[in-house]
Amino acid sequence: MERKPRKIGLESDEAQLARDLQKYQANALELGATRVKIIRTDEILVDERVTLKCQIPRCFGYGGGANCPPNTLKPAELRELLQKYKRALFFVKEIPSNIIVRDKATIKERVAAYQDVYKIVTEIESMAFYDGYYLAFGLGAGSCRHTFCGLAEDCAALKGEKCRFPLRARPSMEAVGIDVYKMIVSAGWTIYPIGSGAKPEEIPCGVLAGIIVVQ
Ligand code: SF4
Repeated sequence: MERKPRKIGLESDEAQLARDLQKYQANALELGATRVKIIRTDEILVDERVTLKCQIPRCFGYGGGANCPPNTLKPAELRELLQKYKRALFFVKEIPSNIIVRDKATIKERVAAYQDVYKIVTEIESMAFYDGYYLAFGLGAGSCRHTFCGLAEDCAALKGEKCRFPLRARPSMEAVGIDVYKMIVSAGWTIYPIGSGAKPEEIPCGVLAGIIVVQ
């Protein structure tokens, strides 16, 4: 996908931003997103109770990676930062329910699905960067500790070493306190709660979400 660096300007060009967001929307679909929406940043719903769910019940990934709580950006910090941004691209990718439900037999497919989400996020983030939105940033789904370093003993970044996947790994939306479920429903899309007791036959489909805050 095109990455021709565009000269950075001082004035914000609303018409250009609208065209670019539409281009990113098409790119995200091309990269495998199922549904994509251009949103205002005040539609990004941040709620401290989301990161509470990383601890109660305690997620097996809690504290395990540099991009997961309590090591990443706090909801209050994100809320404040978002006030400086205007537009974002929010997307979901549908995942068959037998893959999304935690089961050792489908772990490869599940990890690949999460990796696909990070790919969409980081590709669009990079496109935005080269288009001059140099403060753009993306957030994925799940945990990079399991998505990229599942076979490694630990998180390299937490040991003070270079992250093994700096161009792909990002915090997830939920890790920084975004109420992904509510945002999906607010967008008019569908999501079901999928916990450890979920049965694939009871869930029509799973979804994973990602977001790129552009400007
Ligand atoms: S080293 Fe692995 S677990 Fe740690 S931040 Fe990078 S991708 Fe995530």
